[in-house]
Formats: sequence, C-alpha cells, structure tokens
Amino acid sequence: MENTLSKKGKIRQDMIGSNNHSWAGGKSGYCKRKSLERDNYTCQKCGYKNNNIMIVDHIKPKSVYPHLQFNIDNLMTLCPNCNAMKTLSDIKKHQIGRKVKEKWKLA
Ligand SMILES: [Zn+2]
Repeated sequence: MENTLSKKGKIRQDMIGSNNHSWAGGKSGYCKRKSLERDNYTCQKCGYKNNNIMIVDHIKPKSVYPHLQFNIDNLMTLCPNCNAMKTLSDIKKHQIGRKVKEKWKLA
C-alpha cells in the first residue's frame, strides 16, 4: 500500500514541476516510468525482465517523429540487446544521420 502511495506522490511532483525549466526532462521521465509500468518491466521483443537495466525505446524514432516523443503509445520497454538491434534497424530504415551512427560507432 505504501508503495502505491509514494508512486502517486512522485507522479504528482512531476506535474508540479511542469512550470520550471526541467519540465522536458520531467515529462520524459514520467513517460518512461509509465511505459515501464505498463510493460511490467519486460522486454517487448524477447520477454527478458530486469527492473534495473530495461530501456524505454521510441517505436518511431524521436529524431524522425519528434512530436511522438512523449506519446506513451510510441514507447516500448526493451532489454539492452533488443534496443541495440532496433536502433540499428532504425538507422537503416530511416537513414538517421551521423549523430546516431557515431553513438553506435558505425561512422
Ligand atoms: Zn529483449
């Protein structure tokens, strides 16, 4: 019970934070948390589950679809392995520029 209450408290704090300049970070953190909870911290591709290392991925990359960045329907929980594979296929599919390639040392 106590757990549920403190979770709600955190979400509310993010909403209060919407007036200061860390708003974007707070909102993205909130969306990620919601997505992790919805997916029960389980990789949506391989089913692997580990609360500590899961990554929240944008189904449609935010560099291509920035307006979907905070849309929870565009988020899914992936393990680091599946996230790396998806990132590589996104790069091929969307021809995402150098910045991403450098991040993954493909340049
Ligand atoms: Zn996975």
